[in-house]
Amino acid sequence: MIEPGAIDCHIHPTAAQGGPPAACADELLPFADRMGIALMGTSLGPTFWRRPTREQITADNDFNAELIARHPDRFFGYANLNPNDLRFSLDEIERRVADGPFVGLKLWVAMCCDHPNVDAICERAAELGAPILQHTFFRAGGNLPGESSPDDLAALAARQREVTFIAAHAGLNWERGIRAVLGQPNILVDTCGFDPELGYTEMAVAWLGAERVVYGSDATGRSFASQLAKVYGADIDDDAKALILHGNMRRVLDL
Ligand SMILES: [Zn+2]
Repeated sequence: MIEPGAIDCHIHPTAAQGGPPAACADELLPFADRMGIALMGTSLGPTFWRRPTREQITADNDFNAELIARHPDRFFGYANLNPNDLRFSLDEIERRVADGPFVGLKLWVAMCCDHPNVDAICERAAELGAPILQHTFFRAGGNLPGESSPDDLAALAARQREVTFIAAHAGLNWERGIRAVLGQPNILVDTCGFDPELGYTEMAVAWLGAERVVYGSDATGRSFASQLAKVYGADIDDDAKALILHGNMRRVLDL
């Protein structure tokens, strides 16, 4: 059975391969409908700049804003920021989140999140009630410069207890990632960005509780279905699945 009304906390507007937002939505929505995805959290893209300039951040957030404006019933957004440019990041929070339509923030690999600039961003996010989707990897061979690990996010979250963080990819090496964020109840983990391996969702629920696990696909880098399988195929009860598929994000987004 496909749960009606699932919320995908983590997608990127890369459908239509360089086409405009309308084409991206046309490409994506039939698959979302088929998979029972009611609402998708979009950010970062269609071009992935590791250290985006002000112009690139603006273009990126404009693209996602247009996607949301075209289908406000299907998409919500996280504003993409480069915390190296703190002044512009704080201004962008005002333009995109305080004034809408974005509801959260996306931080990728421009700067490690355990840095005072990110604390300044978190303080405004806390005032706005904006969750932060933070990329986290324990990358084999070492992280990229500026890339955050779950340990970095746990350190930030311990200082910023008023902010809800989603540890994207649960650290990739999720057996380490789940352990790293265990002590910080304001960190949730999503289900995407690693292969649909057996046991992830069961371990995340057993260690963190179902309230701290959210469905995300990383579409269109991954498919909706392969990441949904981590939830539908998990050996957990139906109440836990409902929390992961929509209940937790309804709470985070205050829907
Ligand atoms: Zn992603």
